[in-house]
Parts: sequence; C-alpha cells; structure tokens
Amino acid sequence: MKIGILALQGAVREHRNLLRRLHVETVDILNPQDLQGISGLVLPGGESTTMGKLLLRYNLLEPIAERGRNGLPIFGTCTGLILLSKHINNSDQHCLNLMDTCVERNAFGRQLDSFEADMSIPALGEKPYHTIFIRAPYIEKADNNVRALLSYQNKILLAEQDHLLAAAFHPELTDDTRLHEYFIRKIDQDIR
Ligand code: GLN
Repeated sequence: MKIGILALQGAVREHRNLLRRLHVETVDILNPQDLQGISGLVLPGGESTTMGKLLLRYNLLEPIAERGRNGLPIFGTCTGLILLSKHINNSDQHCLNLMDTCVERNAFGRQLDSFEADMSIPALGEKPYHTIFIRAPYIEKADNNVRALLSYQNKILLAEQDHLLAAAFHPELTDDTRLHEYFIRKIDQDIR
C-alpha cells in the first residue's frame, strides 16, 4: 500500500513520519503524475486559501477531485477538512467539493485560537484521544450520509463519508497513531 501526502504546503513531514512508523510507504504529491499508484491520500493542515491556490497552480485540483469522486480514500486534517468540503462559509476559495459538509473556518474564536483536549472517540477505542486544534475549522452542518465520529456542542470535529475522513484537529502532531490506522483500515476495505 502506498499513501500519497499532498506536499504543496503545511504539516507534510509529520504525516510522513507517522505513516512510516506504521510501516506504510508514502509519496509526496507535487504533480498529477504522483497520484498514480497510490491507494490513499492525506491532505495535511496548513492554510486552506493558499493550498487551494497552489492546487490550482500545480494542476492538482481537478485530478485529485476526480480521484476522490471515483472512490480514492482521502484523509483531510484541518485545512484538509476544509478542502474536502462542498461548502465553506463566507468564502469562495478553491476546494475539492467532495464531502457533503458545510464548514466554518477559524471557527473557535480568538480566545480558543489554539487548544488541546482529551476527547472520547468511540470509533478509536476506549482510551481518550489527545486532540490538538490550531486555528481550526469545524463542520457546522452535514448531510445524513456524513457520519460524525466526534462532536462537541453540536459541531462536528471528526467525520467520515464513505471513503472520506476529515478531522478538524492535528492527529499527526501526537504520538497516537490510531486515527491514521483507522484511515489505513478504510483503504484496506477499499482494496479488498
Ligand atoms: N485556519 C486554517 C485555514 O483556514 C487551517 C489551520 C490548520 O490547518 N491548522 O486553512
């Protein structure tokens, strides 16, 4: 199994290190040819307006959107969650238009700009999961086909829709590999 990591900007190395700890081969995605032969794709955190522009400039926006529409498992974290969404409040920035979600960017306000918290995520097992939020978005609304895996005060912070997985926080900044393992299981189901 080879997992691509969109490498235009943002927390690329952290995802790569974590996936390597799980003995998964990774490839940095910098142009459309790099998408060949991958069975999953990670969209890292960064800055979504910039990343949207870079996706367009590097001719990656439509090729990735097309692979996503055709069932490629994609895991978006933070900016990645924004890019996956079909609707972004008060913004017409470029995105992949794949998940039936409506997101609010920088959604936690100034005082909670960045924060960490232990959360219970039943899909990952009993042990609490340490979440790190950095100028994070949340999913404000989602269609019924989106499954919330973590919600807080009616806002969705981790969600899946078929082959797509989106986290408002940064799993790659912790030592906990459970969410990446969860994504790898999604890929396994897809390959079988
Ligand atoms: N605030 C950023 C954005 O809107 C996301 C921050 C992050 O990825 N840590 O893209």
